[in-house]
Amino acid sequence: DDVSPRFTRIVLKLSGESFCHAGERGIAMDEVVHISKQIHKASQLGCQIAVVIGGGNILRGGQFKNESASIQEATAHYMGMLATVINGLALQDALESLGCETRLTTAIRMDGVAEPYIRRRAKRHLEKGRIVILAAGTGSPFVTTDTAAAQRALELEADILMKATRVDGVYSDDPEKNPHAIFYRNLDFATVQAQNLRVMDSTAITHCREHGMPILVFNYRTDGNIQKAVMGDQVGTMISP
Ligand code: UDP
Repeated sequence: DDVSPRFTRIVLKLSGESFCHAGERGIAMDEVVHISKQIHKASQLGCQIAVVIGGGNILRGGQFKNESASIQEATAHYMGMLATVINGLALQDALESLGCETRLTTAIRMDGVAEPYIRRRAKRHLEKGRIVILAAGTGSPFVTTDTAAAQRALELEADILMKATRVDGVYSDDPEKNPHAIFYRNLDFATVQAQNLRVMDSTAITHCREHGMPILVFNYRTDGNIQKAVMGDQVGTMISP
């Protein structure tokens, strides 16, 4: 039996919504522990894992659009990046409570809280088997953590970018609204862009397409999916160059 993982280094994008109960906001530690258990098991398979976390469960920069008289959009984006650091702290402790070794890094310096993101240092942590949590997105406003995940996957030379979502993969339409939406098992980037399929934001898709970084979109709520994905078993939607 060949039990080595199909992918030896992955960047896993977790949206903020995976940190709270469906339809709620904030942080529910039972959800954080649930996803941490899956990450832990995937790491035990021998896969190096860097996690890019979102902040939508706390705050998104775009939500203040109608209040532009009192808060600038850029400010709101910085607030969103800080939200991802809050999530990162929760994820770090949840993972460590399970016995994982982790490092929390931030794209915005915050010395008392986490170490600064430095590419070569992050790689070193990965090589040593530490789960690296990448917080504060890219460190720059007006983009999302999807874009940060694409950038980090490229610069950390991951084999694949894995995007954990609430649905089973990519559909022709929103499956939570349209029961007739068609599920895609495999896609290429040209189709994703031509049909404007909702996979990740368009900047992230462009980065991955231009640099040949495959993306796997799968359901984080199904137990065992992260391990399956790491082993190369069929799960979710694979987007290949
Ligand atoms: N954000 C940003 N730059 C980045 C990453 C994130 O300005 O590089 C801000 C942006 O306002 C975003 C918020 O942080 O809405 C939270 O991230 P995101 O919306 O990607 O979280 P998710 O939807 O994955 O929970």
